[in-house]
Amino acid sequence: MKIITSILSGLMLSAVSFSQVPKEFAAKFAKENAAGLIQQYQYLHTHPELSTHEQHTAAILKKEMRLMGYNIVDSLGFESFAAVMSNGKGRTILYRTDMDGLPVFEKTALPYASKDSGLKDGVTVPAMHACGHDIHMSTWLGLARLLSSHKNNWKGTIIFLAQSAEETGQGAKKAVATSAFQQLPQPDFQLAIHDHAELQTGQVGFCNDFSMAAVDMMDITIYGKGGHGASPQNAIDPIVIAAQFINEIQTIVSRNLSPNDPAVITVGAIHGGTVGNIIPDQVVLKLTIRSYAKETRQIIFNRIKQIGDHLAQAAGLPSDKLPTYYLLDMSIPAVYNNPVLGEMLKTIVKNNFGEAAIAPMKPIMIGEDFGVYGQQSSKIPSYILWMGTVSPERKSNSLANNISLPSLHTAYFAPDAELAIPSNVAIIGTCLLEMMR
Ligand SMILES: [Zn+2]
Ligand SMILES: [Zn+2]
Repeated sequence: MKIITSILSGLMLSAVSFSQVPKEFAAKFAKENAAGLIQQYQYLHTHPELSTHEQHTAAILKKEMRLMGYNIVDSLGFESFAAVMSNGKGRTILYRTDMDGLPVFEKTALPYASKDSGLKDGVTVPAMHACGHDIHMSTWLGLARLLSSHKNNWKGTIIFLAQSAEETGQGAKKAVATSAFQQLPQPDFQLAIHDHAELQTGQVGFCNDFSMAAVDMMDITIYGKGGHGASPQNAIDPIVIAAQFINEIQTIVSRNLSPNDPAVITVGAIHGGTVGNIIPDQVVLKLTIRSYAKETRQIIFNRIKQIGDHLAQAAGLPSDKLPTYYLLDMSIPAVYNNPVLGEMLKTIVKNNFGEAAIAPMKPIMIGEDFGVYGQQSSKIPSYILWMGTVSPERKSNSLANNISLPSLHTAYFAPDAELAIPSNVAIIGTCLLEMMR
């Protein structure tokens, strides 16, 4: 059958019916392999591992990939590895999955819910695949199996990348800095998916250009001069400076940036003082900063420092008591979805799965370290697709009864994996086969 198909494809390169062939392979394969993939998904879901600790998960994936004939490239940082298959001359595509779960106590009550825990900063905490990286991995395995079992139907090189520590923003940065990564074949395109908590299964969300934000986490220490709470005239109160600072930095987004240039500055924590009648000598603030353009990010950093330094000076603090601004080693760039690649993918999805499969999406300020792969010295066209995880029944029920669906990163996130995974394999499988013909 494969031989007949490949002869036909050789003869009918320009025939309309040929464009349906990859979809037929992919859809048939996804249907036939659904049960096995869902079983694998449920196992991965039951046993989540936290960022940088994905040893067991990586071992499972690696074993599967070896059995399928992929060449394993290790030492990509933490537990990250690549599985490479070369199949003649053609395009090189990198397709990435993430592997980590989150420190969340699962409350879905599913029969395969996680009861596992993991280590975070040396403390044992509950673990859950609350961001659906288990769906990403199962889809990834399905695609790898599709390509390895249909080698007559594609050509080129596929790099299946399994990445550690997406949730902490460490994995991609670490991977691209390794010499093993730099020695991988140079991709023409880089792809990834992320499941979406509200999109219907079978739908693909497209957002060209900037789609997810650059993320920075900053700790700021505001100093003062401690004293008795009843004698503020003898002290310099860092709590008052911190209050002024928090209010003043709200003007950065509203007054210093263009209304068309989205950014977020959130102060998520304030730590200062012990009791009501003591003025402390310092206050620590913890911020998250989100932006798209590099220039915007720099404006925000500059303004935060200007405002902090000047408020401290205005309060009478000497130059060695100005605030300190500590950028945590968790920064990730924005995700830039290449519009040309986006249109190519959209055309494939539309032609094979119909207009209803396309969901236009708005950019969001959530971060994803997939953006790192597109920001290397030679910029490689990259795209992350949103994939639906909500069954049509659950979707129509939520709309009819105004019930909100559990979002990503919550204890109740429960995607309809039985539908989502085969659908992902059929859709992304078709995209890969079409792009590697
Ligand atoms: Zn996440
Ligand atoms: Zn995620």
